[in-house]
Amino acid sequence: MSQKQSTDVIASGANLIARSLKNQGVKVVFGIVGIPVVEVAEACVSSGIQFIGFRNEQSAAYAASAYGYLSGRPGVCLTVGGPGVIHALAGVFNSKLNCWPLILLSGSSETDQVDKGAFQELDQVEATRPYCKYSARPASLEQLPLVMEKAFRTAMYGRPGACYVDLPADFIQYPIRNKQLYHSLLDDVKQVPDAPQSLASPSNIEKAVKLLKSAKNPLIVIGKGAAYARAETEIRKLIDETQVPFLPTPMGKGVVSDHHPLCVAAARSKALKEADIVLLIGARLNWILHYGHPPRWNKHVRFIQIDIAAEEIGNNVQDTLPLVGDIQSVVTQLTSALEHQPLPSISSTYLSSLKNKVKQNVEKLKLMGEKGTDTSVLNYQTAFTTIKNILPEDGIVYIGEGANTMDIGRSYFDVSQPRHRLDAGTGATMGVGMGYAIGAQAYYGLDNKRVVSIVGDSAFGFSAMELETAVRSNLPLLIIVINNNGIYHGLEPSEYESSLKKGDLPTTALTPETRYDMISEACGGKGWLVKNKAELSKALREALIQEKDKTCVINVMIAPGGRQTLKFNWMQKSEKAKL
Ligand code: ADP
Repeated sequence: MSQKQSTDVIASGANLIARSLKNQGVKVVFGIVGIPVVEVAEACVSSGIQFIGFRNEQSAAYAASAYGYLSGRPGVCLTVGGPGVIHALAGVFNSKLNCWPLILLSGSSETDQVDKGAFQELDQVEATRPYCKYSARPASLEQLPLVMEKAFRTAMYGRPGACYVDLPADFIQYPIRNKQLYHSLLDDVKQVPDAPQSLASPSNIEKAVKLLKSAKNPLIVIGKGAAYARAETEIRKLIDETQVPFLPTPMGKGVVSDHHPLCVAAARSKALKEADIVLLIGARLNWILHYGHPPRWNKHVRFIQIDIAAEEIGNNVQDTLPLVGDIQSVVTQLTSALEHQPLPSISSTYLSSLKNKVKQNVEKLKLMGEKGTDTSVLNYQTAFTTIKNILPEDGIVYIGEGANTMDIGRSYFDVSQPRHRLDAGTGATMGVGMGYAIGAQAYYGLDNKRVVSIVGDSAFGFSAMELETAVRSNLPLLIIVINNNGIYHGLEPSEYESSLKKGDLPTTALTPETRYDMISEACGGKGWLVKNKAELSKALREALIQEKDKTCVINVMIAPGGRQTLKFNWMQKSEKAKL
């Protein structure tokens, strides 16, 4: 502060930081305090911003990234420097991978101690740069509101992503005396408006219309970019008018309800194989969509791709037709260019065979889920069917995590609203569950929604201590741990014991019947250990009714699976010519 000063301290750098966040519309900050950011968190709370304090920065950063996805504005994570930043990098990387807006704010050593081996010293701007769209240390405290605005704008505009702002300790502690300058610095920087909407090129819209009108087997793929873009109204209209079947990606579920008659999620493999013209809306041709290649896709398929990021177009499939722009606007352009009519060339056999396949597969899932008696040992299918039959249809936000638990669970739990399902996402990131659950419950509030996290035992172990965070923050999460004693598959207790003695315990094995429910009880939440349908139903009803205001963990023991070979649907290799 260089201008004329009075002697009274009217605020600190921490207040300037908190007020800058408030100016950007921030309602909640996720993080862990410590030197030198305690004052920042305290100033946030004094400014009316909620602070949710975690037990590990990794989960705090995951929570902030999920909050950014759900709210459409950057989630904010506050950490100490050095190790705090390194832990939070997991969430920064996760945001980059998923294209979600996030701001990481971290304390750093005093500016006159740089390179001296200061407390928790790290070149944090450089450490975060590879995963951030913008990574900066303000040159002075006066510059901070401006840098903050730039970070918010950069995180939101174009393809969303992560940004980093470094907060040196001497900036945080700076005693501000110049009232006029303090207020003018804050007043001069306005809240970043929603991203300006851009349209696709009219000539490419024309080409897309031509392709779609010629399609016999058209398919719309709805990705999480569509959910993020809040384009549900526009996409529903497009589907209803054109009568094109659609397939949501795991987090695209709910943009158009899974109950819609044109949803072919239950006939995914058939739809991919048969589609001739595919409209991708906010989804990338990465591993989740098998790179757009045979054998999962038809050799002659043509893709039309709506995406905000021009550089995404052509990734893995070069002759993709680009519709670069904002999904809301581009889908509206396309719907009107298609003249609000059903596509003229859709094959009725294609449609009816897809619908038949959906019916058959739904029936198959139902039969698998109804097997066994009330007291039989559970498996994924019977556990999920029991849960699905009891959970209310509305007001549930699903979190899915763990390999089998997430993959198999996706087919059992229908989603009918956008942004009501989160999972391991583009990074297949294990350990996101607790952070996501806390971020989601903080976003949706306590009144009408309950976050239900259905997670594998291994995945839950990454961040189980965040149960204490949830209890302390009064978040009534319902965590259902599907426990098979291992990563992918575990062992029966007797086999575990004998393997342990012989020294040939598989690397995937975890201790049988670990009492995750008791961790919840130890933290002040509720916990149940259940082993069959009857016990699971009883515990679930109690968690939903009597214990609806509490953090709950239901530890569901299922058949462990044993030493099976690993196989997942996405693992199929592309067809490659050998040299
Ligand atoms: P999924 O995992 O569901 O397939 P991806 O994360 O791979 O989805 O793809 C989401 C895509 O959505 C990204 O390529 C991103 O650039 C794009 N996207 C995000 N927001 C918008 C928007 N408002 N308009 C257009 N595209 C968007």
